[in-house]
Amino acid sequence: MRADGNRQPPDAGSRTEPLYRIGGSPREPRLPVRVVILGATGSIGVQAVDLAVQQPDRLQVVGLAAWSRVDELAALVRRLEAAGAASAPAVAFADPRAVSAAARDPLLGRRLLPPGPEGLDAIAALEGADCVVNGIVGAAGLAPTLAAAAAGRRIALANKESLVVGGGLVREAVLRGGAEIVPVDSEHSALAQCLSGRTAEELERLVLTASGGPFRTWKAAAMAAARKDEVLRHPTWNMGPKITVDSATLMNKGLEVIEAHVLFGVAYRDIEVVVHPGSIVHSLAVFRDGAVVAQLGAPDMRVPLLYALAGERHWPLATERLDLARLGELRFEAPDPERFPCLALARRAGEAGGRAPIILNAANETAVAALLDDRLGFADIAAVIAATLDDLPGGPVGSLAEALETDAAARRAAQRLIAVRARR
Ligand code: NAD
Ligand code: MG
Repeated sequence: MRADGNRQPPDAGSRTEPLYRIGGSPREPRLPVRVVILGATGSIGVQAVDLAVQQPDRLQVVGLAAWSRVDELAALVRRLEAAGAASAPAVAFADPRAVSAAARDPLLGRRLLPPGPEGLDAIAALEGADCVVNGIVGAAGLAPTLAAAAAGRRIALANKESLVVGGGLVREAVLRGGAEIVPVDSEHSALAQCLSGRTAEELERLVLTASGGPFRTWKAAAMAAARKDEVLRHPTWNMGPKITVDSATLMNKGLEVIEAHVLFGVAYRDIEVVVHPGSIVHSLAVFRDGAVVAQLGAPDMRVPLLYALAGERHWPLATERLDLARLGELRFEAPDPERFPCLALARRAGEAGGRAPIILNAANETAVAALLDDRLGFADIAAVIAATLDDLPGGPVGSLAEALETDAAARRAAQRLIAVRARR
């Protein structure tokens, strides 16, 4: 994204058509809800499996997909079947190397789909499914989101990268397929709950809360020297490694600003981020009369996950209940742009639109993978993303192929920048 002077970014002050249907789902889902879980072996995926195991009368798992962990997926199928929450579900592995092992497994071999993108798309559009949980990490989640949208499914979307990388493409596919997106990301689920029964016209502004991550109170110099285990020590949420690193840089919140813009159609300048260390208030909607509606709860991803699976109903769930008197107070503070440059990088890329958010996301995924692989320091993540955005041209994106080309080019550029840093 080369600098283009002082021109006002096209998306900063403009509203767009919301992707999320503001006001809530019109109808009660038919029971049991037949669910496909993408990224089943991950943090979100396993929690979706847990919910089905607890509520087999409401949730039946008809398909599961993962990258490569054959034994873990087989264990999940065994648990689901023992609880009566699945019966010979379809299975897909994105990693072609996993498929021969899966074919030999008596449990997984029964309904194994082809390996790679083809099988992933097929399971995302599986015949007879009502709801697809997308718990894949990264831009790899975009194609299956599009496949589920084209098949007209309700998509319980945890994979925020789908909307960052392909917001426009997802919008088209949802409209064409008659699909529905329900966010699982806790902030966006909170906003969906705040907007239940409302209209887009009543809404003025959104406030996304951020825990602040492990480095909220750290000095910049200490952050620059942070060890990997310190980056991965999230204060309130227990999640997969990539989003945990994103929470330490606040890139997660940056991606969520873009996600909120796509879902709710609110202009970037009307999406605020506030640090709230307790992760109790999950986000807030500000209406045109100044009324603020917030959603609160103990930090537990099963709550937004079940809300999406239930077609935006509050089904019973045994979770920790809030004890406000014991909490005593709720703290809020402004994020520090100096120590957390990723937040502004993401906002600028979102405002520029087109290729910029794709480049931002690809550079971030590449830098985070390098950190997890001990090839990059914490402070270099933002530097690599900023340099990748500077190196590559912006411009509009018309198709999935163009989006994927941009993604690949940005990954190559970020790898080169990381290699140069490693030689220093
Ligand atoms: P994770 O790393 O724990 O799990 C990722 C899953 O995706 C695994 O099942 C893995 O097998 C699968 N996967 C990885 N690469 C794949 C590929 N190329 N093709 C197909 N499958 C692939 O991640 P997570 O923490 O569960 O996060 C998943 C998504 O949900 C992310 O987009 C994240 O931002 C979002 N999210 C997670 C949480 C949380 O609490 N974990 C909260 C909010 C949003
Ligand atoms: Mg979130």
